[in-house]
Amino acid sequence: MGWDGFSGDEVAALTQGESFFAAPGERVCPACGERRLRAYVQSPANARRPTLVSYVWCTACRKFVGTRAKHPAGLIFSDPLAVLSVAERRELERSLVGFLAHLDQLWDSGVLPQSFVA
Ligand SMILES: [Zn+2]
Repeated sequence: MGWDGFSGDEVAALTQGESFFAAPGERVCPACGERRLRAYVQSPANARRPTLVSYVWCTACRKFVGTRAKHPAGLIFSDPLAVLSVAERRELERSLVGFLAHLDQLWDSGVLPQSFVA
């Protein structure tokens, strides 16, 4: 099963309300209205500047958006994918479908959401 992108209006709606870092649980999806919206962030080690890559997806309607932003100063979080080797990680990220399925699996087993300290 494939994934669609959120529309521009939906992406704008994602930025409203309480920060994911303050309340990292599932939230209401702007596309389908189900409380099935999830997020995972990572800080790529090879980025030239401190960067935060965010993956936001809805497990109910299967919409997805990925963004890159400046890493907020002082924001610290766990990364359950950090245990993977570079090769394992590359293999996992090769397909969006497989990557998001893996993140859902981590979420459903309680490894995600991450915890944040700001
Ligand atoms: Zn949805």
